[in-house]
Amino acid sequence: MTTSPPQPPQNPYPGHPGGYGPPPEQFPQYAQPQAQPAGPPQSYEQPPQPFQQAPNQPHQPTQPFPQPGSPYQQPGQHQQPMPQNVLQCRFCGAFPAEQATVRGHQGMIVVMRFLKLQGPFCKTCGIATVREMTAKSMLQGWWGIGSMIVNPITMLMNLEPWAKFRKLPDPAPGAPGRPMDPGKPLFRRPAVLMLLLPIALITAIVVINLSTTTASEAEVGACVVNKGTAVSPNVEVVDCASSEAEYKVVGKLDGTVDDSRCDQFPGYEAAYTSEVGSQKYTLCLGPI
Ligand SMILES: [Zn+2]
Repeated sequence: MTTSPPQPPQNPYPGHPGGYGPPPEQFPQYAQPQAQPAGPPQSYEQPPQPFQQAPNQPHQPTQPFPQPGSPYQQPGQHQQPMPQNVLQCRFCGAFPAEQATVRGHQGMIVVMRFLKLQGPFCKTCGIATVREMTAKSMLQGWWGIGSMIVNPITMLMNLEPWAKFRKLPDPAPGAPGRPMDPGKPLFRRPAVLMLLLPIALITAIVVINLSTTTASEAEVGACVVNKGTAVSPNVEVVDCASSEAEYKVVGKLDGTVDDSRCDQFPGYEAAYTSEVGSQKYTLCLGPI
């Protein structure tokens, strides 16, 4: 008598881009579809009797993983009754499943990568994929100017499939493969702290801008330093007591870049003129 142990489903899908999808160590059948040993799978429990073939039936070779929508039933096998035309999870074969696209984003300073993984997903695999790809986007999605804008949108777009998956009933038992491990909810993962990164960055820019008084705000009596060059000056206001201070503003002329009018101010040595659009002014500078 020849009995055939149940074979794990062959994965018809190649590896996922960017390392997304089920972790290889946990789902060897996804990572190395060619290297699958012929023995019984160790990663999930074998359903008992229903998989046994009748003794007089010839040995059936491993059946290819059924296409979504086709009933997962072979002659002589009476496992979980499978309704017709029901979507099956692409990853574990369970049903019900929902068609959805889960997205991720990687920013790499100059280039960026848009990642997506298409279903159908069962509830467990769907939630696992949303969590995994969103967590990775939280870590890897910020690194670039464009990515800063694209990444939050990408993560928000995962809300829709996530809501779909949550509404699905739990996968029916007896699926050919084991569903993914959903892991911890996102807000309990360290990656969620990376959501603070853009907030921290914006705060830093605002604080730096507020703490730097530009030349246009310089008043008479203030001290300034030129952090640029003579040709391309970058004049900032500094504390007169600081060693950085180079000049004291002895006079300020609004609406003009004619520095000859600085002569009226005693102690005048140098001038700084600025013209941005229609905004013109001249700082007349003297020694400290
Ligand atoms: Zn699944």
